[in-house]
Amino acid sequence: MHLCVFCGSNPGRLPVYREAAVALGTALAESGVGLVYGGASVGLMGAVADAALAAGGEVIGVIPQSLADKELAHKGLTEQHVTQSMHERKALMAELSDGFIALPGGAGTLEEVFEVWTWAQLGFHKKGCGLLNIAGYYDQLVGFLDHVAGEQFMKTAHRDMLIVETDPNRMIERMQTYEAPVVTKWIGRGEN
Ligand code: AMP
Repeated sequence: MHLCVFCGSNPGRLPVYREAAVALGTALAESGVGLVYGGASVGLMGAVADAALAAGGEVIGVIPQSLADKELAHKGLTEQHVTQSMHERKALMAELSDGFIALPGGAGTLEEVFEVWTWAQLGFHKKGCGLLNIAGYYDQLVGFLDHVAGEQFMKTAHRDMLIVETDPNRMIERMQTYEAPVVTKWIGRGEN
């Protein structure tokens, strides 16, 4: 199994974010799960990759040529794919992965996890999508998503597809056992 980790190209303000990235990378390797990620050596991205490698895990990077310098492509990965565009990067990461976990991160991280989660809602794939909520980082986002469901722009079943966990091992277990619900996206157009 391979799990994709989306996370900040910055390390964030608190040491606990990096510690969580290290814990997740280590837990993936110890669970025999390969890591797919954005291929950078900086920020939390570098931390999760280094930890997985240090624990003997497989790490596959996917980085666009245009960012290989800016995000400092990691040189020590099991495999590094260099793509022509950001769209190709995300498509390849999705194809190579059996589930998606977001650690804390910025706009790029949010965009990536929202994209795979929206694909899941549309039934384009049946893989798990989750937020690893470190030190309450995603609390306000999770609250807002409840508001989105409450205002009927999203079904509660789709809101609930996004797994929110605080413990890396528990998140990996939930990805391994995930079963996608069969629910159509639109509200008020038939039973599901
Ligand atoms: P960030 O969370 O903004 O630090 O970015 C994390 C990762 O997301 C980095 O590898 C960025 O290259 C990537 N990224 C940034 N913006 C986008 C975007 N619009 N679409 C896809 N990936 C992005």
